[in-house]
Amino acid sequence: MNRRTFLSAPVLAAPLAAQAPAGAPRLETRIRRLRLRHTWTTVMSSSEYRDTFFVEYSRDGITGIGEGAPIIRYKESAESCRAAVDSIRPWLLGQNPEAFVPLMDGVFRRIEGNFAAKAALDIALLDWNAQKLGVPLWRWFGLDRNHAPLTTFSIGIDRAEVIRQKVREAADFPVLKIKVGLDNDEEVIAAVRSVTDKPLRVDANEGFRSKEEAVQKILWLEKQGVEFIEQPLPAANLEDMNWIRKRIHIPVFADEACLHPADVPRLAPYFDGVNVKVDKCGGLLEAKRMIEMARSLGLKVMLGCMVSSSVAITAAAHLSPLVDYADLDGHLLIANDPYEGVLVEKGRLILPDRPGLGLRPRAA
Ligand code: MG
Repeated sequence: MNRRTFLSAPVLAAPLAAQAPAGAPRLETRIRRLRLRHTWTTVMSSSEYRDTFFVEYSRDGITGIGEGAPIIRYKESAESCRAAVDSIRPWLLGQNPEAFVPLMDGVFRRIEGNFAAKAALDIALLDWNAQKLGVPLWRWFGLDRNHAPLTTFSIGIDRAEVIRQKVREAADFPVLKIKVGLDNDEEVIAAVRSVTDKPLRVDANEGFRSKEEAVQKILWLEKQGVEFIEQPLPAANLEDMNWIRKRIHIPVFADEACLHPADVPRLAPYFDGVNVKVDKCGGLLEAKRMIEMARSLGLKVMLGCMVSSSVAITAAAHLSPLVDYADLDGHLLIANDPYEGVLVEKGRLILPDRPGLGLRPRAA
């Protein structure tokens, strides 16, 4: 980046570490509007943009950056997240950030709900700590970045012609994740299959209306080369899950049913795997607890994401060597990502080797 592009880059993209006055702790919160490349439609909603919540934590001349994507279903908004973090600023700035685990326990005691706010703080504090130690975050966790799984690229629900175009644009990805659950599932899958024969994973986002419909749809999806299915029925419906699983041949993952560590043992008898998301559980610390618990119960683990910038996606990617499957494409769905962090090459997650999250401002 030359000086001119550097100066015209978005405010958030300025080199924050260099701006932070040595020794003076500072906590900034802000909301950023991320524009989607394509209208993004799932069973739940259709949107052109997403507002996510950002935190910058500065101390000792180092700035850690975090992001959380609020989930409306759980009554969170970017504004409620910002208010939650602003309300604990004086307390937080008086704490020792190097004692990260008890500090996050204190954050969880002080902030009710607003898990995207907790996630943004957790990520910013981890970025700060790993930068302070001069190591990439995956090394702070004791992981090998060469063990990061492939990520899928997600295709939202759309008209056949748009789906064909999106699948062609995703030619580099060896595995796709397809959203279904509205009334046009067969049209969606047929459109995908008219362009590619690569393996598919399917997410119904609770969209199947009954256990009978779920079995009929899943048996058909199996014949279309689908590897596994995510959340076929509403989150609260556990009693029908084993009836379904006895009649199908591919694994079933919980997503909307699985938010926090305590959900994992509760769901273990009903699913083959869980989709862990940093925004749902409130950060990498909680996500790691969920992953370890799922592993101990014999469940497969997917690390998923919301539509976010490279901040939240790179954070999740630093944990990805712990999981079986990754669906970390949220930053690829937006047109105005302020940062560059994890790179994706033919579906491979390339984790930065720079200290902390390893973010760099993206040229405007
Ligand atoms: Mg899902």
